[in-house]
Amino acid sequence: MDYITTMGLEVHTELSTKTKIFCNCSTEFGGEPNTHVCEVCSGMPGTLPVLNRQVVEYAIRVGIATNCEITQYNKFDRKNYFYPDLPKAYQVSQLYLPICRNGHIDIEVNGKKKAIRIHEIHMEEDAGKLIHDPWDDCTLVDYNRCGVPLLEIVSEPDFETGEEVIAYLTKLKAILQYTGVSDCKMEQGSLRADVNLSVRPVTTDELGTRTEMKNINSFKAIARAIEGERKRQIEVIEEGGRVVQETRRWDDNKGASFAMRSKENAQDYRYFPEPDLVPIEISDEWIARVKSEMPELPDAKKARYLADYGLPEYDVDIITGSKYLVEIFEQALAACNEPKEVSNWIMGEVLRLATETSTDVEDISFDFANLGKLILLVKKNVVNRPTAKEVFEKMFRENVEPEQYIKENGLEMVQDDNLVREVVVKVLADNPKSIAEWKEGNEKVTRFLMGQCMKQLKGKADPGTVNAVIAEELAKL
Ligand code: ZN
Ligand code: MN
Repeated sequence: MDYITTMGLEVHTELSTKTKIFCNCSTEFGGEPNTHVCEVCSGMPGTLPVLNRQVVEYAIRVGIATNCEITQYNKFDRKNYFYPDLPKAYQVSQLYLPICRNGHIDIEVNGKKKAIRIHEIHMEEDAGKLIHDPWDDCTLVDYNRCGVPLLEIVSEPDFETGEEVIAYLTKLKAILQYTGVSDCKMEQGSLRADVNLSVRPVTTDELGTRTEMKNINSFKAIARAIEGERKRQIEVIEEGGRVVQETRRWDDNKGASFAMRSKENAQDYRYFPEPDLVPIEISDEWIARVKSEMPELPDAKKARYLADYGLPEYDVDIITGSKYLVEIFEQALAACNEPKEVSNWIMGEVLRLATETSTDVEDISFDFANLGKLILLVKKNVVNRPTAKEVFEKMFRENVEPEQYIKENGLEMVQDDNLVREVVVKVLADNPKSIAEWKEGNEKVTRFLMGQCMKQLKGKADPGTVNAVIAEELAKL
């Protein structure tokens, strides 16, 4: 029996505002526990929230970037639940009139285009963190994150494969980064995805019962969680059982999901309008201004890179998929005007060294214009490519300035053609056996001779020149 998988996504993203959504506490990640806390975000009785205007501005930005309608009269509601990570015992969120509705994000998987519909985007506050300490058998609570602004982006159940989910998350992450609303550091929890998943036999149109997997925090883990849960549900059905609607926790180490609690419905939260906050009215002018200030978005940038620079689509997808790679590309390009070279360096050395040093792309920190300078130094034959790679590694790790570093370490290419010829003549004279082999038609010998010459020239000659001189000198024999 074949099964169809249907999935919907709820993505929470922490906004990079300086202060929390309803108070002046810092949103900065980390910090000693309970140091970014005040009477408002710790839920003291008698305090009142004051909405951070920047949160609304960011929500409008994301709404426009994801083709949503902006709800010009929207409101906050209380979502009641008792859990110590939220000391007020309710979360201020939006249920009845969320700020953005009816949008879509276009994705492409294996050459097939698809629009994933966005049901809504709402603003809400994040909860604190509970730290379970099995050693002392107690739970500690850190309210630094409590009240950090969130956008929750709720898709329609439009996904059928894990690849579609990953393509959507990749695109959404790029949009959130390009619009400057979030750093999307998944390892710090500023982008978290919940996956709703159900399966049904191909022979029926009726959707199966769905489960929800919460807060999966890497793309790879999401792909594995989807595959694992899909298989689990099919097994349940094939054994004659019924899938139960519940929230499950994906344990990526064990490669399995575990039931956490039966899934709540909206009525379980006893939502009601938030009485401490006035409704938000968004004028036409406000929307128009945000639209006019919108940066170039991932799809437009990709189209422009393809059209203007003639780069391979695969490379463009990777570079435009990250705001941080785009920054490297554009700053290096401004310094050298060699788009293909810049793209090749990013796809090659930059990403290789990032992997090798376990550096996230957002933390790559050398002076990007220096990559453009290095490219020009190669073009002007100041250094050859192997040397340039060594210089780049120094740039990547220690942010050295390439021209100065090359000078200080005497890495310039040997420009003296007479010296190259001298070395070639000597190497040929020292290797009579190789010459004999070459005379018998063994062309491979020239590579050996080339290696010997480069060694004598300390790797600093232009390989093309050395090759040409070797050919000339061999021809004389
Ligand atoms: Zn506070
Ligand atoms: Mn939420």
